[in-house]
Amino acid sequence: MASQVTFIGAGNMASAIFGGMIESGYPREAITATSPGDEHLAPLRSRYGIHTQTDNRAAIANADVVVLAVKPQVMQSVCTELHEVIQARKPLIVSVAAGLPAETLEHWLGGSLAVIRCMPNTPSLVGAGAAGLYANPRVSAAQRELATTLMQAVGLAEWVDDEAQLEAVTAIAGSAPAYFFLIFEALEAAGIRLGLPADTARRLAQQTAYGAALMAQQSDQSPDQLKRNVMSPGGTTERAIQVLEEAGLRQAFLDAADACAERAREMA
Ligand code: NAD
Repeated sequence: MASQVTFIGAGNMASAIFGGMIESGYPREAITATSPGDEHLAPLRSRYGIHTQTDNRAAIANADVVVLAVKPQVMQSVCTELHEVIQARKPLIVSVAAGLPAETLEHWLGGSLAVIRCMPNTPSLVGAGAAGLYANPRVSAAQRELATTLMQAVGLAEWVDDEAQLEAVTAIAGSAPAYFFLIFEALEAAGIRLGLPADTARRLAQQTAYGAALMAQQSDQSPDQLKRNVMSPGGTTERAIQVLEEAGLRQAFLDAADACAERAREMA
């Protein structure tokens, strides 16, 4: 029988995950989601056929996995509310909340719990996320497997051994969709400046990024080799790459990632 999974919070991230789970064959009867108001839950019931609840404590009474998917600001009060039921049942806790350490969550929930902390990114909302996962020492191999199934329903799931490595995940995946959107903006502006209509420039930039990602994923070649394959000596790409390197783009990404990881440490 499938593990009973309860999502506390039924917003963007939770619905992306349970939507993906259902699409990949997870039984909808085994999924429950909560929100303070039923007006938010009714459409989810009709769209996904999952169980819903406005009472968080009742929703976790039979849960094997509790996914904490509320905003970080309300997490402490939600944990305080759940603490007693969680301690009676000791389900696996999976948090997708940005910046909250596993130990803090475990402490708020009363201690001695298997906790997985997950750092997802926004492309999870379209099934193409990239998430880092960290498990505290109480998490069993079967529980890790279950969390992998959960997160793979919305994209790539990579385990890290040390929780601090989630800062690096934040720097190159959690926050990184925005870096690519910045590149899209710049390429669109460049296309317009060179005489293309704005929507044409936007579509070309997006499709090129999509194609490059797909090609890199499907190829055994390194990013450097793939880059060289596009560059012929004395050609257009070589000239463009030379300008980007001279402008310090590579170092800018290294510095941006350092700044992001440092901010993640400050916020933890
Ligand atoms: P959201 O605002 O879409 O969803 C939050 C949900 O929590 C809402 O449905 C709200 O009704 C519900 N909620 C509020 N108080 C509650 C309570 N007391 N009990 C039960 N439910 C309650 O937010 P989101 O974007 O889905 O983010 C959820 C978590 O995911 C956050 O902690 C965020 O850090 C993390 N996260 C989100 C993204 C993303 O791409 N959206 C990326 C990384 C991490």
